[in-house]
Amino acid sequence: MQQPKVRLGEILVKLGFITEEHIEVALKIQKIHKKKLGEILKELGFVSPRELALALAYQANLPYINLEEYYPKKEALFLLTKRISSLYNALCVDIDPKENSVLVVIDDPYDIRKQATIRSLLKNYKVKFAISEPEAIIRAIEIYYTYYTNPLDKQFTEEVLKPDPDIEKVVDLILNMAIYYNASDIHINPLSNISFLFLRIDGILQPMTVIPYSLHGPIVSKIKLMANMNVAERRIPQDGSFSYSSLGQKVDVRVSTLPTAFGEKVVMRVLKKDISKLNLDFLGFLEPQKQLLRKAINLSFGMVIVSGPTGSGKSTTLYSLLRSINYLKRNVVTVEDPIEYRFNFIYQTEINTAIGYKFSTALKYFMRQDPDVILLGEIRDDETANTAIEAANTGHLLLSTIHANCSVTTVQRLLNLVRDKDMALSVLKVISAQRLLRKLCPFCKEEAKEDIEILKSKYPTVFELLKEEPKVYRAKGCERCGGRGYIGRTVLAEVLELDDNLINMFYQNASLVDIKKKLEEQNFLDMSKVAAYKILTGETDINEAKRVLGANFV
Ligand SMILES: [Zn+2]
Repeated sequence: MQQPKVRLGEILVKLGFITEEHIEVALKIQKIHKKKLGEILKELGFVSPRELALALAYQANLPYINLEEYYPKKEALFLLTKRISSLYNALCVDIDPKENSVLVVIDDPYDIRKQATIRSLLKNYKVKFAISEPEAIIRAIEIYYTYYTNPLDKQFTEEVLKPDPDIEKVVDLILNMAIYYNASDIHINPLSNISFLFLRIDGILQPMTVIPYSLHGPIVSKIKLMANMNVAERRIPQDGSFSYSSLGQKVDVRVSTLPTAFGEKVVMRVLKKDISKLNLDFLGFLEPQKQLLRKAINLSFGMVIVSGPTGSGKSTTLYSLLRSINYLKRNVVTVEDPIEYRFNFIYQTEINTAIGYKFSTALKYFMRQDPDVILLGEIRDDETANTAIEAANTGHLLLSTIHANCSVTTVQRLLNLVRDKDMALSVLKVISAQRLLRKLCPFCKEEAKEDIEILKSKYPTVFELLKEEPKVYRAKGCERCGGRGYIGRTVLAEVLELDDNLINMFYQNASLVDIKKKLEEQNFLDMSKVAAYKILTGETDINEAKRVLGANFV
């Protein structure tokens, strides 16, 4: 492949990942740190590994593959050995017997010698290339070769059944399983005479494997030791944290213990440091919704709220909004609990209740920091709500989250917390209420034409939004998705912009039913309609929408 004609920086701007200002700042830094511009942009967090890979793919006119949602085919993987894959950072992910072709994911489209070697190693096939982030390929090589040759669950069972199991290895295997399955939480639950390991995968708690009861205590002690907790104290709940690297990935683990009747129950939350998914374009918002959000974050003052239950992806949306803000021209300060991702040019603080640094106190100190934009992790109480409203009313843009079920109840909840409803309604601009829907596994989804009729009767207006003929599927399950039928998740959101009409209704304490009726007249895209759209475009299925939104969905 020829060296590129268009510069990567220009492509990153064209794709909307950065602005000219980011490049100017990076060029200034380049004068001191003599590195490639792409490296500097990545180090500063101006572009994420995924954005850089997408730009490279665009530049080289090759497809991009998100390896987090693309599980390789076993027969394809082993066409290259692990040694070769690691050496060239290349992963053979698919094989098409009809075309006699294979698909190899690489990170550098301009390394011609590498490609020639891979072609010669796979000379019996027509070789096609795709691009992914180097970090993701390293991770995938570690994960898939390890897993396919020696499944982690098998290794785990073998180890715990040994007469003298290695506890350190057992804990490593538990953490590796979580990383392999992309789990957000690990639960180690003592029962009357055994202990059970659960993982939360794509939002759903899945029973994984049994742990002999005799090992429960030693495993918990080992974890508490790693997390700097008091190992001898088993009567009161504790929390702690540690960092962990494995399978080509670095994660932060937050640990919580709870003494129960059968012993200490442990929950570990796995926090990934990769900022790749933090981009408004990657999350699953519909085009008009993204427009509303982008308009809102460019306002000079007001309030933008992301709401939803725990585990609905609120903080991912919030951080994605934060990354879209022009933080080189605006002073952005945050108060979070905890800081999940770190950014340059955004000034982040973390609450510390032990020394009295709370959400509400942080806001008071922020006022002397000349802020333009304030991110407040969560509005939980009236004190924080009142201070937030005041901040938004005095010429600041404030982003925050609230626990609420839908966009309308989010406004109602906020109004219940504040003294000055008038002021609250004048600053509240946009509410994004959200859930997460699992996406269908692309390798095994089955067509379900009959579902089109079901949706047509209940959501006729959604059909007007479709750009193509509807394609509807249902989950099945295959080897590649671990039999679950789903891979990865997408945001299911309703983005509400408050207009004068609605403000009036809220001001007059209109009921939820009346407000929803009004919204229906305006053809508001509520969560049910968006779910219907996502089913009709083949992204998810009816059962998943029913699981998330309830049985009345259809
Ligand atoms: Zn599948």
